[in-house]
Amino acid sequence: TYVVTDNCIACKYTDCVEVCPVDCFYEGENMLVIHPDECIDCGVCEPECPADAIRPDTEPEMEKWVEFNRKYSEMW
Ligand code: SF4
Repeated sequence: TYVVTDNCIACKYTDCVEVCPVDCFYEGENMLVIHPDECIDCGVCEPECPADAIRPDTEPEMEKWVEFNRKYSEMW
């Protein structure tokens, strides 16, 4: 899965939401999040993010961001 990280906080861009083929972006408290079970790992959103906030969970220390994204995407 891909996850949204803290570079997204208060970001006003929604380029990522527009390109996602499965609509798995959700609105968190002050940033967007990706539902980790709905993301199909296509990677299309990553280069679209002007804040470089979207990272693959294969990078180091992403576990907390996966949990964070899951928590806020399941609030709705
Ligand atoms: Fe959506 Fe693909 Fe980004 Fe996952 S990697 S959030 S499916 S655009």
